[in-house]
Amino acid sequence: MNIVLLGAQGAGKGVVSEYLAKKYDYCHISTGELFRKEIETNSELGKELASYINKGQLVPDKIVFKVIRNVVKGNSNFIFDGFPRNIEQAIELDKQTNIDLVIFVDAPKELLIKRLSARRHCSNCKKGYSALTYDSNTCSECGASLCQREDDVPEAINKRLEIFYQNIEPILNFYKQKNILKTLENFGELDETYKNLEKIIEEK
Ligand code: AMP
Repeated sequence: MNIVLLGAQGAGKGVVSEYLAKKYDYCHISTGELFRKEIETNSELGKELASYINKGQLVPDKIVFKVIRNVVKGNSNFIFDGFPRNIEQAIELDKQTNIDLVIFVDAPKELLIKRLSARRHCSNCKKGYSALTYDSNTCSECGASLCQREDDVPEAINKRLEIFYQNIEPILNFYKQKNILKTLENFGELDETYKNLEKIIEEK
């Protein structure tokens, strides 16, 4: 089964995919993560990616499609996180592989901004933290310092959310018509989110 996770930045797609990947053995594909890894290599492609990402803009479809094609290559059991980001990408993904379930992870906008502004990760091992619940500047696993993504600053956050709200309706309608869209609310207790998530998976 292939799953698409939709949701604004900070809605909790990362947390949901991590849970699914562990519990049901899915392969988690986050386009944002793939791009950040490429940026770290300092390649020409990485520099080009950074020029879009650091301003909170979307990476052009042509580049995104190339990356996705290489990853999918006829395999299955994927969780797509952060892809598709617009209707053109949804149509392209449909050509590349079969999507069985789409989960829209939902949370109110004020909470998204609060979560994104508090998001941190370890500069060494990349473990993720939230300044809302973790009161230290060093990683509990390896002791390295914590840092913030360059696009988790107010200007880029606003730009990213604006793009998200502009693009999401046609994508939701696309999957609604296929009758594979489910909504998962993620603004209460995390245990409740996981319980509802399991229900969605088991009903499929
Ligand atoms: P994310 O980690 O999903 O928040 O992605 C970080 C950034 O990578 C986004 O703000 C975009 O600039 C870029 N990005 C990730 N996925 C896509 C995509 N499917 N299409 C275009 N740009 C993307």
